Amino acid sequence: LTQLYAPLNFLGFVYREIKHALADMERMFDLLGNRQEVADRPDATALQAGQASLSFEAVDFAYQSDRPILHQVSFSVPAGGSLAVVGASGAGKSTLSRLLFRFYDPTAGCVRVNGRDIRDYTQASLRAHIGIVPQDTVLFNDSIGYNIGYGRPDATQDDIEQAARAAHIHDFIASLPQGYETPVGERGLKLSGGEKQRVAIARALLKSPPILVFDEATSALDTRTERAIQSQLERIAQGRTTLIIAHRLSTIVHADHILVMEAGRVVEQGTHTALLALDGRYARMWNLQQSHPELDTRV
Ligand code: ATP
Repeated sequence: LTQLYAPLNFLGFVYREIKHALADMERMFDLLGNRQEVADRPDATALQAGQASLSFEAVDFAYQSDRPILHQVSFSVPAGGSLAVVGASGAGKSTLSRLLFRFYDPTAGCVRVNGRDIRDYTQASLRAHIGIVPQDTVLFNDSIGYNIGYGRPDATQDDIEQAARAAHIHDFIASLPQGYETPVGERGLKLSGGEKQRVAIARALLKSPPILVFDEATSALDTRTERAIQSQLERIAQGRTTLIIAHRLSTIVHADHILVMEAGRVVEQGTHTALLALDGRYARMWNLQQSHPELDTRV
């Protein structure tokens, strides 16, 4: 198995790189307002909530009609609860967050926030309630201050610095000769994976949304950075409904509920303890990781 791991890991890397390029294209389409897939209903109302429960009810989904991706996916997360989703690469984990954002609509079933079908809400109001900390944060070719603040146009310099402090990136920024004015992105300063994720956490903190989606970095972060990010995540997740696409055991153990996905289906769900007692797919994954800590949860 360990001999197989290196080539498989490499293929996984190539797959993820391509997927990121696609994700960036999706973002561009959104920014240009070109996305045609979903439109607001004429009678859509604005979601206005300080807290949000979340549920998927018998959701089927396909990006292309001849290739079903999700099959009868059901789960619910109470307001303020946390859900970790685990499963092999391509199992459909990120697709769940795209449906929650309403980049696409399910082909059957529905996604609900506070008990109502998200198609009843305007997309702008729905998305204003969701913060996302992606695996690999896209940075604009602008200052680092702008990159932190762009999620909340009315954010003051003080707000930005406060969020950066909470995300443990302020000291780093302050040490740069141009501070918050330092250009980043393609043509500016290159940030490490951990630094980028802190920028994303600071953005999410500024937005302060009731729902938080955290797509854990799959690239190896050093143990210290990983622990620091994990503890920040726990802090910002307090009181928010959190969906974590999990690759690390530490995250899974702390989640209120775990969803195990395989080829677009939920094959097991429950708490860490309940799933271990079930002695099925999750328990096998757990045991494998105990003996091979270098593997992530997608084996
Ligand atoms: P990973 O752990 O590698 O991030 P995942 O479980 O998040 O994987 P998804 O990104 O949800 O997997 O993808 C599920 C399936 O949907 C994959 O087979 C993928 O090829 C397919 N898919 C994802 N995005 C698109 C898209 N935009 N168009 C067509 N197919 C897609």
